[in-house]
Amino acid sequence: VPLPRRADYGPASHRPPETAMTDDRPAGPVPPFDPGKLKAFLDRLSTEVHAADDWGQVATYIPELADVAPNQFAISVVLADGTRLSAGARSVPFSIQSVSKVFMLACVLGREGDNIWRRVDREPSGDRFDSILLLEQEKGRPRNPFINAGALVTTDAMLANRAPKQALSEFLGFLRAAAGDEDIHIDPSVAASEARYGFRNVALANYLKSYDNLHNAPELTLGTYFHQCAVEMTTDQLAMAGRMIAQLPGAPPLMAPARARRLGALMMTCGHYDGSGDFAFRVGLPGKSGVGGGILMVAPGRASIAIWSPGLNSYGNSKVGTEAAELLTDFTGWSVFS
Ligand code: GLU
Repeated sequence: VPLPRRADYGPASHRPPETAMTDDRPAGPVPPFDPGKLKAFLDRLSTEVHAADDWGQVATYIPELADVAPNQFAISVVLADGTRLSAGARSVPFSIQSVSKVFMLACVLGREGDNIWRRVDREPSGDRFDSILLLEQEKGRPRNPFINAGALVTTDAMLANRAPKQALSEFLGFLRAAAGDEDIHIDPSVAASEARYGFRNVALANYLKSYDNLHNAPELTLGTYFHQCAVEMTTDQLAMAGRMIAQLPGAPPLMAPARARRLGALMMTCGHYDGSGDFAFRVGLPGKSGVGGGILMVAPGRASIAIWSPGLNSYGNSKVGTEAAELLTDFTGWSVFS
């Protein structure tokens, strides 16, 4: 039986009416999971997405992303009992881009706790990820840590008493510890391109500085931010790194449960830019996307999930990846609302 096809996740005006959705999930608690059935489902999902006629558009703002073939797909799941399941291009490293913002925030929360909330808010923006609009209206206090302006403030906080090199090596150390894998690196050519073409980020950093909400020289914060965006990971590594946010037993003790819950809340409300509401509506799990086509998603207490497909929808989130996320949660019944 072929998997049901899902409509594109474009802006509201492009979407079919909600009645086009079929939701036949049973109400009530999710039954215990048969990993064999889930593995068969992931394989089927990977085969079927390859029949897609529209993979979306890869990001074009830097050549390293513009040159990636859009018709690629990978999915990795780590279950609460430690079972690891994957399908597709699970060992291909991709640019995690904005998914890094979750881990940078986790690092900063670990270092300075709730002080960071004096400098950045926790509200969805409803605007593009690189928008400068609200920053002026709200006098230099970004709406949330997952839009670029907010992420620049988080990265700036990571630089307190640290040189960029040291902050980045701590950040990489944190990611490696979270994933239980030392083989996670920054792609220097992506970082260089981010710096070369990151005109909007330069504008955002300077704007923040003018409101005194950047404590370092803009070029230091920007350089660190460009490098954190250039981390490469596979879906296998990313799903492992997400265990602590999903609060899975056996996850490295890098974060208190209350903090993981709050990180999840931010991912749910702000993790997909101005497509966050639609992602929550259709998928029902906290997720964070990046323009490299990665999505990290958590089913608290149940699973950590990473998906990658580099073609993007009109919100700048992975097109096929988002569709696969919906099919996965339809299949598993995972939702923070059930
Ligand atoms: N490096 C990208 C930027 O700052 C990250 C954006 C994203 O992944 O959404 O423009």
